[in-house]
Amino acid sequence: MPHSHSGGADRYRRDVTLLVGTHPSFLDHSAGEGHPERPARLAAVARGLESSGLGGEIRHFTPRPATRAELVAVHDPAYLDALEEAAGRGGGRIDADTAFGAGSWGAALHAAGAGLDAVQRLADGEGTAAFLALRPPGHHARPATGMGFCLLNNVAVTAAALASAGQRVCIVDWDAHHGNGTQEIFYDDARILYVSLHQCPFYPGTGGRTEVGAGPGAWATLNIPLPPGSAGDAYRMALADLVLPRIAAFGPDWLLVSAGFDAHRDDPLCDLGLSAGDFGDLARAIGAAAPPGRCVAFLEGGYDLVALERSVAACAAGLVGATVVPEDPTSMGLGLDAVAAACRRWEGHVLAGPAPGGAGRSAGGAGRSTDGATRGGAPGGHYPRRA
Ligand SMILES: [Zn+2]
Repeated sequence: MPHSHSGGADRYRRDVTLLVGTHPSFLDHSAGEGHPERPARLAAVARGLESSGLGGEIRHFTPRPATRAELVAVHDPAYLDALEEAAGRGGGRIDADTAFGAGSWGAALHAAGAGLDAVQRLADGEGTAAFLALRPPGHHARPATGMGFCLLNNVAVTAAALASAGQRVCIVDWDAHHGNGTQEIFYDDARILYVSLHQCPFYPGTGGRTEVGAGPGAWATLNIPLPPGSAGDAYRMALADLVLPRIAAFGPDWLLVSAGFDAHRDDPLCDLGLSAGDFGDLARAIGAAAPPGRCVAFLEGGYDLVALERSVAACAAGLVGATVVPEDPTSMGLGLDAVAAACRRWEGHVLAGPAPGGAGRSAGGAGRSTDGATRGGAPGGHYPRRA
């Protein structure tokens, strides 16, 4: 059992409800035999939610699928058709890391709809925050192709729908990999602030400090690349000095989290140094930065099942302001220079408010400037080094 600071203090906490969205079809997605992005991950997530101490404060829901119109706000129709058709024929492969089976299209549709459903429920007052236990993950998926275990960009589908409804959206992506797909989709869009903390250099090769957005979306993309070994102290410094002030100045109506847990020190694919306790700190800080009842976390990566379970426990509690510490927070002294460099890059821009006129180009617009996804990444990409 995780050691919990909430325990008896729970009764003093204001009433909270964490909406948890998951769908049976998520187990039907197969990325291939022996693939690290496997159905067993969702059982680990479920164990983590159980040990979060939230108990009756969790309300489960079964999300609806995304509609075609919601998907084409982000994805090329020809890609959607090809994916559906290939899944109908039994499956296929997009790249060396990304394969799918007959059940993957249904899973992908519900994964892409989960955030839309959660947003509606939160807007209706059903919960304090939402956590989506979904697969396949989404943040590498580009407009016209999947990649890096991702088929459809779940977080982007929700962000695009919110933005087209006039809402300002911040996406915080703490997965160990840079969310190249999400960045690309919104790179010139002033309505969406994309913030990523990720290992660098690493797959997929994007996410440098100099990538800050373009056109109307300039300074609405905040990348904080971190060297291997970076741990909780670097993340806490990044949040305090850069991420939280930037979010406050941007003034989002909604805060979406690409919540991957592969920055955990035990993850077999990545080399960052976070503990489950660090994820709790991250979730509590980001949850508190969102307007009340306006935070949705989307599961992305995380491939060590014990690390995933513990990290989800701490994250779920943190999203609603509670503290569960399955593992102590870490401090390694690595990555502080990288955070300082990102702060220098952003000097004079952190506190910039909403862009005049607000609306950037809609998702799917021209002028995407990230070509980094073709630059290649670390050898072995998203796969275990021991593959
Ligand atoms: Zn990842």
